Amino acid sequence: MIKSRLEAVRALLAEQGVDAVVVTKYVNLHYFSGFRGDDTTLVISRDKAALITDNRYTEQAGLQAPLFEIVEQQDGLLSKTAEVVKSFGCRKVAFEGNALIYDDFQKLTELLEGVEFRTALHLDKLREIKDAEEISYIRKGCEIADKAFAEVLSFIRPGVTELAVAARLENAMRENGSEKPSFTTIVASGLRGSLPHGTATDKVIEAGELVTMDFGGMYQGYCSDITRTICVGPASEKQRFIYSKVLEAQKMALTLIKPGAAGKAVDQAVREALDKDDLGKYFGHGLGHSLGLEIHESPRLSKKSTCNDLRPGMLVTDEPGVYIPGWGGLRIEDTVLVTENGSEALTRANKEFIEIPLN
Ligand code: ZN
Ligand code: ZN
Repeated sequence: MIKSRLEAVRALLAEQGVDAVVVTKYVNLHYFSGFRGDDTTLVISRDKAALITDNRYTEQAGLQAPLFEIVEQQDGLLSKTAEVVKSFGCRKVAFEGNALIYDDFQKLTELLEGVEFRTALHLDKLREIKDAEEISYIRKGCEIADKAFAEVLSFIRPGVTELAVAARLENAMRENGSEKPSFTTIVASGLRGSLPHGTATDKVIEAGELVTMDFGGMYQGYCSDITRTICVGPASEKQRFIYSKVLEAQKMALTLIKPGAAGKAVDQAVREALDKDDLGKYFGHGLGHSLGLEIHESPRLSKKSTCNDLRPGMLVTDEPGVYIPGWGGLRIEDTVLVTENGSEALTRANKEFIEIPLN
């Protein structure tokens, strides 16, 4: 697995005409070496691979990254990294354009005198298609999130705060095997529902309010992502109507997510569906994003998507929403795997409209 990932990096090095790349992004250290820790760099050349870290991590790195030569640094991570680059005899070296901070770039440029250090690579692209092991981790994370949703339903009632709901969700995910939340849990109730990213506050939930919960549990370093919206007590006609339209659009998108589909086209189809009831104008964000070691990855399903060809093994979220300032809003989201023939929603929690009985 790591072997084929290194091969992919080396193919990219050859394509770009560089001898090596310095890897600094946390999730890419993990992906390309197997090592799970920070304050570390990788130097991957056409025929060598080194992991530079400090004494806290040398033993762990030896166990987790057997394909790498482990180099311990004592006087500075960047100076040791530069030393390794030189010892590998590299003349032209790339860096991660979206991950190396400017100060470190400048320092490395100075330390690498005589080495051409100006090619920016985006290694994230190599993580777009997930292998069977990665898919199994994401599937498990989705199952954990599903269980948490089922458990939190019996807790939500008038008088509890959004923060208490978030705590229940996060605790349930932990108890079901998640390492930590994939991102800051969103619980937006009542008027706050018009905030697409309304993270939980101390607002008290009241009868008649919609409650949007967007959350996910990390498993083996991989994210999951689900949104469900429920009503506390009987819903109004308008709440039921808008929910039914968002759900219809969300389910329609599931049928469009398949190999060969373009990210822009799937997004556009959902906008057009919502427009039939004049709701498209309340849907301001993209339809979906990929996820994996990070919660937001490419490919995207949006107006700006550059993906013209979804492929089996890719993941995308399908998350239309309607947000009306002064009224509230709702969203329904699944994590979806692109399969050989179509797609499979990995999150399976009930998404028919739930109106929690008031007793
Ligand atoms: Zn989400
Ligand atoms: Zn999402």
